[in-house]
Amino acid sequence: MEILRTVEELRKWSRKARRRAGAHASNAVGLVPTMGALHAGHASLIRAAVQSCSHAAVSIFVNPTQFGPSEDYERYPRTFVADCELAAAGGAEAVFAPSVEEIYPEGAATFVDVKGLSNRLDGASRPGHFRGVATVVTKLLVAAESDKAFFGQKDAAQVAVLRRMVRDLRLGTEVVVCPIVREADGLALSSRNAYLSKEERKQALTLSRAVRRVEALVKHGERRAEVLIAAARVTFAVEPAVRVDYIELVDWATLAPVETAAPGALFAVAAFLGETRLIDNTILG
Ligand code: AMP
Repeated sequence: MEILRTVEELRKWSRKARRRAGAHASNAVGLVPTMGALHAGHASLIRAAVQSCSHAAVSIFVNPTQFGPSEDYERYPRTFVADCELAAAGGAEAVFAPSVEEIYPEGAATFVDVKGLSNRLDGASRPGHFRGVATVVTKLLVAAESDKAFFGQKDAAQVAVLRRMVRDLRLGTEVVVCPIVREADGLALSSRNAYLSKEERKQALTLSRAVRRVEALVKHGERRAEVLIAAARVTFAVEPAVRVDYIELVDWATLAPVETAAPGALFAVAAFLGETRLIDNTILG
């Protein structure tokens, strides 16, 4: 597996991959953007990329612009050697691991802002977060010239922002969304789970419990947002150590709140366990 450090190296790798796949192949190059500290959730995206594209690359970049000033940029887990092993074992042919200067050359003044979506859900509690995400993903997609890019439903609001961005900018990459990978007890895998104490790890199950509760209600015919959100609140109330950030039922494309859960609506939660902020969601059937 190749380790690429510059945008130019990534572009060269991609163009070579495309030539090998046949110039007109529409599934020549797949990209899996990550911040590293790879786990089975990331592995599932890599698997999907390897299965549906002739050549797959993983990017590993802890993107400073998507962290707020008081957030965990400095202490975000960095496990590069293990990440490369996981990427190689999954069949990725390249890891793109640029420096901050490579992605944001001195004086970089260009940002991508998806108006109307960037300030919803996680964007409401983390101002500037989605601007940072949209900017870095634009840079990655432009550099990789990928046919498909793979993202997890785990970050469902991010998916909405990126789908709109790719469409608006006509980036020519298909956004592929992969299901949430969970621990056996239901907790959604996240690089930030590493921050949790033993006690917090138990309390963290409240998020998936709330999600499951809402799924069960919808299965039994309940569609009213008010009722679904109230049921989730009750689930959280049992565990007062977990501080709710948001509980929302929204249209997955616009992230605007809805009053009834039409099929495809996004039910999403975010909550703090101590300093650690976790998210979970479900797309309602
Ligand atoms: P991150 O490294 O946290 O930026 O995540 C990189 C990609 O992996 C994003 O598209 C995430 O949505 C996805 N991802 C993270 N956790 C999971 C999970 N538990 N299941 C599926 N995809 C995930």
